[in-house]
Amino acid sequence: MKNNLSNIKKSKYYLDKGECVAIPTETVYGLAGNAYSNKATLKIFKLKKRTKKNPLIVHYNNLKMLSKDCITNSHFFKLYKKFCPGPLTFVLRLKKSTKISKYVTNSQNTLAVRFPNHLLTKKLLKLLNYPLAAPSANISTKISPVSIEDVKEEFGNKIKFILDGGRSKIGLESTIISLVDKPRILRLGGMERSKINKLLKKNIKFDKKEKINVPGQSKLHYSPGIPIKLNIIKPKSHEAFILIKKRKKSDKNYYYLSKTKNLKEAAKNLYKILRKIKNKNYKSIAVEKIPNIGFGEAINDRLKRASTK
Ligand code: AMP
Ligand code: MG
Repeated sequence: MKNNLSNIKKSKYYLDKGECVAIPTETVYGLAGNAYSNKATLKIFKLKKRTKKNPLIVHYNNLKMLSKDCITNSHFFKLYKKFCPGPLTFVLRLKKSTKISKYVTNSQNTLAVRFPNHLLTKKLLKLLNYPLAAPSANISTKISPVSIEDVKEEFGNKIKFILDGGRSKIGLESTIISLVDKPRILRLGGMERSKINKLLKKNIKFDKKEKINVPGQSKLHYSPGIPIKLNIIKPKSHEAFILIKKRKKSDKNYYYLSKTKNLKEAAKNLYKILRKIKNKNYKSIAVEKIPNIGFGEAINDRLKRASTK
């Protein structure tokens, strides 16, 4: 990790000019642009080949900046106090006076916001007088990047600068909770649902049938581009096999998310391993059954989406 100020300043230089810069976060790398600028946010959609119908998450450094754009509420403050900065995104109502670009929200009156927990990105946000719209730094529907090598693989030299912040610590996108009406989870992710439930003393459901037109909800997503079969005990010899627990006899096509059924470790390794398998030109992937608890919920969600043909 190159923790020097000149790289942060370089990022600011390009962002101030309305360019896009890839930034590290604890979840995955983001493709960032000035959230108040139509020019910068349009560039994000173009680079990612993302439909404009899919709104972007906006990254803030503090509540003062957020209060310029969004209406907060008691659920928000409770969650913010406990979990932010961290891997939790809130959907809130926009203020009428907001300067957020209409492209960020697809002209809706709600905004997804997050406070990322990465030293370099926090330092960068502090220097800016605008928040950063930053979806994951990958081509739409492909595997999210967890290192600068992954970002380069996605975009080559098409983006102006990548701020190197090392490997993403969590390795899965943020959990998204809508606080516009009754709290609802819109996307499973890096913040375990059980922790949110415990704090709010509620069982907040993840509603898969939610009709919001957003990328995390689309069926084909996070895809390595080859078929994935789930809950497999014995793989075929020519396919990559993803496991969660050490087997007595391993083969060269075996890829371990964890050797000890550690779901946090598995989440961190998921995208790295999917990318590795994709680059080895396997024709299919088999996955061992993964417990549907804690981080397992988000891992299974991603694998199911990635396995959609
Ligand atoms: P990404 O930034 O690529 O991780 O994806 C953005 C995610 O943010 C989508 O999957 C949506 O679920 C969510 N999102 C962004 N804006 C909104 C919004 N206004 N309402 C609901 N979900 C949103
Ligand atoms: Mg994404």
